[in-house]
Order: sequence, then C-alpha cells, then structure tokens
Amino acid sequence: MHKYPARREIDLSKFTGSEGPFETRYGLPETVSYCNKCVVSNQRPVGAVEFKHTKQSIKKTVQFDGENVCNACRYAEKKWSTFDWDAKEEELKDICARHRRTDGAFDCIVSGSGGKDSFFAAHILKYKYGMHPLTVTWAPHIYTDWGWKNFQRWIHAGFENILVHPNGLTHRLLTRLALENLLHPFQPFILGQKGISPKIAHKYKIPLIFYGEYEVDLSKKTHSKIQDASFYTNKNADDIVLAGLSIGELKENFGLTNNDVRPYLPIMEDEKNDFQCEVHYLGYYLRWHPQHNYYYAVEHGNFEAAPERTPGTYTKYNSIDDKLDDLHYYTTFMKFGIGRATYEAFAEIRCGDLTREEGVALVKKYDGEFPERFIDELFAYLSVPASQYPEAHARFEQPVMDRAYFDNLCDSFRSPHLWKWTGTGWELRHPIWKEGTGESVHAEGWRGNQYASYRKDVP
Ligand SMILES: [Zn+2]
Repeated sequence: MHKYPARREIDLSKFTGSEGPFETRYGLPETVSYCNKCVVSNQRPVGAVEFKHTKQSIKKTVQFDGENVCNACRYAEKKWSTFDWDAKEEELKDICARHRRTDGAFDCIVSGSGGKDSFFAAHILKYKYGMHPLTVTWAPHIYTDWGWKNFQRWIHAGFENILVHPNGLTHRLLTRLALENLLHPFQPFILGQKGISPKIAHKYKIPLIFYGEYEVDLSKKTHSKIQDASFYTNKNADDIVLAGLSIGELKENFGLTNNDVRPYLPIMEDEKNDFQCEVHYLGYYLRWHPQHNYYYAVEHGNFEAAPERTPGTYTKYNSIDDKLDDLHYYTTFMKFGIGRATYEAFAEIRCGDLTREEGVALVKKYDGEFPERFIDELFAYLSVPASQYPEAHARFEQPVMDRAYFDNLCDSFRSPHLWKWTGTGWELRHPIWKEGTGESVHAEGWRGNQYASYRKDVP
C-alpha cells in the first residue's frame, strides 16, 4: 500500500553552487526575470482550470512584452488612461436592464466572501444600478473573528445570502491531500468557490453572475469580458482530479463517497439542460480599485481591517477572513518564489498606490515570512487522526502534521533554478531586490494606504 512518507529525501546537491544550468520544475521559465513596471516575475502561473490540475501539469506563466512589461501592467496603463469608462458603464447598465426583475425574484448573483471587494460589488449593484442580487459565499476553512464580523456586516448592509459550508471532515482531508500532492492547500477551497455560484445559478435559474475584479488573461493578449464556461463545466467526471487524485483513487484509497466529492465537481454536461448563465466581472465595466473598495466598505458597512498585519505581507485589509490563507501564500513562495507581499504589491503598483521601489522594498521585507500566528490550529486542521479518518489515516506514515513535516514537504517542492541551499538554510537565487537597482532599497519611506486618494474617485 502506498503511504505518504514521514520524511522525503531531498537531493541537496541540486541546490548548491551558483553555476547553472539548474533543473526547473512545473515547466517554469529557466531564467527568472521581473516586470519593469511592477514586481511580478515571469515565474507566476496563470489561468489553470483547477479540476484538471495534476502533479505533472505544466504551468502557463505570465507573458512579458519586448520591453519586459507584463500583460497586466499594460492593461493597467489603459485602465487608468485611455479606456472610455463612461461607455463601459453604459454597457453595464444595458446588462442590468436586460436582466433586472421587479417581481420579487433575484436577477443576479454576486459571488464573494463579504470582504471589501464583494461588499462593494453587491452594494453598488443594488443601490446604484437597481439590481436584486443574491449573494453566495463558499465558506472559508476557518473563519478569522474579523472575517466573520465583516461577513455579518455585509449581510446587514441589505443582502440575502446563501453560505455554503462543505462537509468539514472531507474538506480537511482534501486540503491535506492537496498539500501533499500539489503543495496547494487552497485548491479544494478554490474548486468549491469557483463552482458554487454557477451551481446556485442553475438551481434557482438566475442567469447572471457577477464576480468582482476583472481577471485579465495574463497568458494572452486578447481579453474576454465573460468567463469561459470551461472553468465551471465539464463533459463528465472521468478526467477530473481533486487534490491531485482521481475520483476513483479518492473513493478507493481514502474512504470518500460520491456525496463527499460532489461539492468540488464542476457542472456536468448532462446537468446543464438548456439553462445558460452569463458570468461577468464587474471590474471590466467599472474602474476597479481594491483600496477604494476598502474605504467604500468602511463607509457603507463599517467594514473593519484586521487588528494585525497579515503574515507574509504589509497589509491588513486584503483577503483576511480565512486563517488558512496564511499557508496558501507561503506555499506559492516555496514553489514559484512569489509570496503574498509580491501578489499584493504588484496589484497596488498597477493601481498607483505604491511605487515600484516601495514594492520592491516591501517584498524584500515581508515575502516568505513564516505564518506563526495560527499555525497550531492549522496543523491540527491538516492532521488526519484515525478516530476521524479510519481509512485515510492508514495512508500516511505520519498522519499528524507538525512543523518538521511541513518544512520537509515544502522543501520537496522547491525548484533548483529558484532556490539555493547555502549549507545552513535556503535563499532565493534571483530575488527582485538584487536586480537592477542593487540592494539599497528600504521600506521606511512608505506611508501606508492613502485615504485621500480614495476620496478623489469615490463613485
Ligand atoms: Zn507588471
């Protein structure tokens, strides 16, 4: 019987020395480079359909143009200068007019957690554009206190909500397996979250879904304003993988049932009937600005930032409702050299909230910080005791997660072209602060998020 080992052997010789070429993993580009305008590297994977994601998947990564500028920065330049936002808003009004109902039925779904972005989306659709949204939430793994309070504030700002909690035992096991197989503990959450709104739309025949931020397809030059149905539908369950395993393996080796896996599956061809729904991004029609959304949610719903800085980054208002989020970005740092500060800084640079130099300094200071604050609770969440998992438990040499096990697992996912073993620890071979401007950057000059800039473009 195959068991996940208590410890994985790591060939450190692949990680020593400075002379390449080094082995690359996940199909990542061999040479690391950074966008000239933001802080994203060409190692960032984009556009995966999660239910096809296996250990062997080759990642598509961010594309840079001839001037070494990423697609998202090029899009952002137009977003803040040449786009005709009045015309885009008219398009939004047309969509709303086409779907608006006054007979007591919902006319759209707003998908979200009740964080600042979904607060803004639902609120503006209802109170400015006269829509009747049903808000739909896929629950976090473990709510933070402040995340739960903000979720309540959202509902009490005038919204009906369907909150879907998956079976807690199944969700924990899938999260552990996604960590073991893909070092991607957030994958089961993402599968549930991406699928839930289209499923509710089908069930209640609500033909319009709004997501918030517009996801520029970073691997392509052209962009579609409607989400492709391949993200939430599939022909049948034969080629579906969850947490890196086929449905058959999950049932046979880990004791899961059809009921257990159902919430994670996309809509199958034979369940679709004739019902069609459109999935739009509000950020395509309105000039999306996350920091602005934060102040909007404060003003209209008493939204509260976390009382503490999020580990691995410099913010405390962004994606703060799930304790497991701390581990998600830690694992992206291990696999791609891209941690949470990088993700947040590149988004804020593109909105003009940070300069690139400030972003580099913040990345240097915070990226890859180990998330200590909830770690005991998270390791308990990721453990698979025999009393709760009589079958799955036997598949692990060490069912209990602890720091040594977690660190070793992370190390086994490092790519030699990104990481160097110094003899005493790990360091990135090509961190952004060693590129171009030298190592002199610092974060002291950064003044934090500026309320004043929000007041200028409040709708
Ligand atoms: Zn960029």
